[in-house]
Amino acid sequence: MHPSGKLKPGSYEEFLEQFSVTVPENFNFAYDFLDAEAAQDPTRPAMVHVDDAGNRRDLDLAFFSNESSRLAEGLAKRGIGPGDTVLIMLYRRVEWWITVLALHKLGAAAIPGPHLLTPKDIEFRVECAKAKAIICEDGLAAKADEARPNSPSLSLLVSVGEAEPPAGWTRYDDVRADGTDDFVYTRPDGRRPGGSDLLYIFFTSGTTGMPKMVTHTHTYPLGHLTTGMYWHDLRPGDLHLTLSDTGWGKSVWGKFYGQLLAGACIFTWDFRGKFTPDALLEILAAHKITSFCAPPTVYRFLVREEVTSYDLSSLRHCTTAGELLNSSVFESWKLSTGMDIYEGYGQTETCLQLVTFPFMEPKPGSIGKPAPGWDIVLLDDNCDPCPPGVEGEICIRLGEGRNLGLFTGYLNEPEKTATVVHDGFYHTGDKAWADEDGYYWFMGRNDDLIKSSGYRIGPFEVETALVSHPAVVEAAVTGVPDPVRGQAVKATLVLAQGYEPSEELTKDIQDHVKKVTAPYKYPRVVDYVDELPKTISGKIKRAEIRERDEQAG
Ligand code: ATP
Ligand code: MG
Repeated sequence: MHPSGKLKPGSYEEFLEQFSVTVPENFNFAYDFLDAEAAQDPTRPAMVHVDDAGNRRDLDLAFFSNESSRLAEGLAKRGIGPGDTVLIMLYRRVEWWITVLALHKLGAAAIPGPHLLTPKDIEFRVECAKAKAIICEDGLAAKADEARPNSPSLSLLVSVGEAEPPAGWTRYDDVRADGTDDFVYTRPDGRRPGGSDLLYIFFTSGTTGMPKMVTHTHTYPLGHLTTGMYWHDLRPGDLHLTLSDTGWGKSVWGKFYGQLLAGACIFTWDFRGKFTPDALLEILAAHKITSFCAPPTVYRFLVREEVTSYDLSSLRHCTTAGELLNSSVFESWKLSTGMDIYEGYGQTETCLQLVTFPFMEPKPGSIGKPAPGWDIVLLDDNCDPCPPGVEGEICIRLGEGRNLGLFTGYLNEPEKTATVVHDGFYHTGDKAWADEDGYYWFMGRNDDLIKSSGYRIGPFEVETALVSHPAVVEAAVTGVPDPVRGQAVKATLVLAQGYEPSEELTKDIQDHVKKVTAPYKYPRVVDYVDELPKTISGKIKRAEIRERDEQAG
């Protein structure tokens, strides 16, 4: 498959009509796309990598093709093969992509892990997935080593980097040195790995509770064709940066398959410390990045900088996903850069489901329309479809040959899977409504919706109103028990520098919300905190605020 066949739709409707994907039999991204493309065009740019010290490396397709073959062979010699599972913790090192591709070649499943995992988290992940190996950054090896005594499934530990690894560990360079550039793995049954073999075990963000283990097979990368080629609007010559840790599903949305399938180059910024918005703006300008994607939180911080003082003239397309983008942020970004932000919605369990494509008029605050290939319906509590304007759960109608990139279940948890896959639909657990033009408006997760005096209130709309007040940097809106209303709206706020909590400020913020949104939505309870509880991927954990409130009485 070659990306040169990119469609140029004039409208969303035309796109739906034209778009189709043929899934090759026993498809394996590493062999059938990467190696095949590298054979034809070895020097095609694949990645620009900038490390924490600012050193830049330009890497081509041949590099990833050869390096992943070498590593795959070295790992095969050390007992890794089809059906094995491997935990990877490598920040945004080049070796992360090489390792994942090597595992694809072997038919072993990758378990991406963020570097912030504690030894207990590592133990939990290794135990749940029965991981046979850990491949991690030298600086994280000591932490991973602590998990070893309680992890009997582990038989191989590989450390990447210069530092001396703990006893019993193998160096990445030694594994790699045992391989050759043109290694191809063949299973004992003569078949090359691919197709319905397990590709990934992703852990979800854990926003609502313990992270869930989502399984995807080898056809999953093709589900991201729409992500890279159309949502990110990529074509040969583009340089795309998605800001995400390699430990989450989102990183392969934006830093891997769809981008390479589109013929674009992946930009990787391997910063190690705390994220700073001015450093990001410098990176965008200095490396002439053309397409950019980041969660709304990042844009919230960016718009507080002097964006116009950076040369962003190469940047032509901006996208966001993961949480709802507040419309005030959309407007500020447009004001300082002239660019719209195109929203996308999806889950670790899926690929892009709802999206504003570049050939659609963005409606700030809306997540867009269904992506082609995904049969999206809004269902009410009786599993009946909702008419325009009526809120329902975002569901995916299941069917043969549809929904390319939908997960195959939660690992070893058929009962948990059955709670979301039933009656012919996958249930996302998220609520939305659609307008007369077919645009979807996200309301929140089922559990996050607030029921107050007969009204249903989505936290996002109130949070959006709150952060449009100059004193408020971040806001989380939850329901608290109220004897009269059932639930009352509560706002937990982080204030901007120079503001202090006071009764006057609370009143002013409440009045502001009453003005910019329907007055019944204003927060009757306001709490000020230094930091909101968040997942390590940066999502607000509203469930944790509710739990704390319950405990406090
Ligand atoms: P967990 O399932 O462990 O509680 P999580 O659902 O946050 O965590 P992810 O799969 O990373 O884990 O996130 C998917 C969820 O993120 C969606 O179900 C939705 O609630 C939210 N989301 C994704 N994109 C958007 C968006 N554009 N607007 C609003 N919410 C979004
Ligand atoms: Mg989820």
